[in-house]
Amino acid sequence: MFDVLKIRKDFPILSRKVNGKPLVYFDNAATSQTPQQVIDAIVNYYANYNANIHRGVHTLSQEATDLYEQSRLKIQAHFNAKFSHEIILTSGTTHSINLVANGFSALLKKGDEIIVSALEHHSNIVPWQMLCERTGAILKVIPMNEAGELVMETYTNLLSNKTKLVFTNHISNALGTINPIEYIIEKAHEVGAAVLIDGAQSCPHIKPDVQDLDVDFYVASAHKMCGPTGVGMLYGKEEWLKKLPPYQGGGEMIAEVSFEKTTYADLPHKFEAGTPNICGGIVFGTAIDYMNTVGFKNIAAYENELLDYATNQLKQIEGLKIYGTAKNKTSVISFNLDNIHPYDVGTILDKLGIAVRTGHHCAQPIMDFYCIPGTVRASFAFYNTKEEIDALVAGVKKAKMMLS
Ligand SMILES: *Cc1c(COP(=O)(O)O)cnc(C)c1O
Repeated sequence: MFDVLKIRKDFPILSRKVNGKPLVYFDNAATSQTPQQVIDAIVNYYANYNANIHRGVHTLSQEATDLYEQSRLKIQAHFNAKFSHEIILTSGTTHSINLVANGFSALLKKGDEIIVSALEHHSNIVPWQMLCERTGAILKVIPMNEAGELVMETYTNLLSNKTKLVFTNHISNALGTINPIEYIIEKAHEVGAAVLIDGAQSCPHIKPDVQDLDVDFYVASAHKMCGPTGVGMLYGKEEWLKKLPPYQGGGEMIAEVSFEKTTYADLPHKFEAGTPNICGGIVFGTAIDYMNTVGFKNIAAYENELLDYATNQLKQIEGLKIYGTAKNKTSVISFNLDNIHPYDVGTILDKLGIAVRTGHHCAQPIMDFYCIPGTVRASFAFYNTKEEIDALVAGVKKAKMMLS
C-alpha cells in the first residue's frame, strides 16, 4: 500500500546533499517538492505543446487550449465544484484572495462588517484591510486561545446582520491548527454572510469538497501540493462570481471592445485577463493526479504518524516549547528553545542539511499573541521519514548544546 521509500524515488531533489549531508526537507508548509511526473509534464509541455491558448486556429494552440481546459476539469473534479466555470485559474492563493477582496469593493458600504481569524497568513489579512480602507467597512477578529485554536463563542457573538463576509484559513500555516470551517460556514450563512476559505495549507493534506462544505469561495496554490509556483485556483459559487466585477482588464477577459463600451467575457474568462501561466495551469492537473494516486487517506494517516512521532521526541528536550497544541492539527511543529533566537537554531540545522523555516511565517499577529519574534517550524510531508525526524531531533539537541 503506502511505501514511503518507493514514493521518495519520485522526488529527485530528495537524493541531493546540502552542506555535505543528505537533504532533510522540513519546509513543506512553505512549498512542497516536485515529483518526476510533474517535472516530466513541464518538459513535455514546452517540448511539444507550447502555444498561446484560446485564440489560435492552428493545431498547437488548440492542443494547448484542450490541455489547459482538461486541467480545469480535473481541478473541478478534485474540489467537487458544480461547474467548471466556477474554477478560476490564478497565479496562487494571494492572487485569488486579492481578486475577491477587490470585487467586494463594489458590494460593501460604510459600516458593513467583515470578520477575519486571528490565525491568518498576511495574504488573508492585508487585502481585506485595503478593502476596508476603500469602503469604510469594519474588520473584526476571531481571537485564538493558548493552544492556537479559534474561540468559537466569540465568533458567534461577532456575527450580526451587518456581517457581509467571513474569511479564515482551513489550516494554519504557522501552527498547523485545523479550523472548524464547517461550523464557521454554517453560522456565517445564518446571518447571510459569504465565506472565503484559504485552503493553501489544507490542500496538501486533505481533499476538500466545496459543495459539501457549501463554501462561497475556496482558494489554493499549486506549489504547496506538488505543483509548480505561480499558479493556483479560486473556486467561487457561480452566483458570487457573476456578482463580482472583473479584477483586471485586458485580453482574454472581454466579449467585445470598442472605445465607447466593452462587454466582458463569460465565466471563467471574465477573471482570467492576459496570457496565463499555461504550462503551470496544465501541470496543476498533473500534480493533483499525482497526489490522488498516493491517496489523501494514506497521506493523512502517514503524516499523523510523523506528527506524533516528532512531537513525542521533541517534547522530551528540556527547554523546548511547542506553539500550537490544538486537538485538531496537521503535520506542522512550531517551537522555540529556551531563549535562543529561532534564526540561530535554523542556521545550525541548515549546516546539518536540515531545511526548516524560521521567523514569523507571514503570521505576525500569532507571534504577537505569544509575545515572541518567531519560531522554528518543521513541517512534514508524506515523503518524509522517521529517520529524518531522528536527524532533526539530534540536530536540535546539538543546537541547544552549542547555543546555551
Ligand atoms: C502559503 C500560504 C498563503 C500564500 O500562498 P501564495 O502561494 O504565496 O500566494 C496563504 N495562506 C496560507 C495559509 C498559506 O500557507
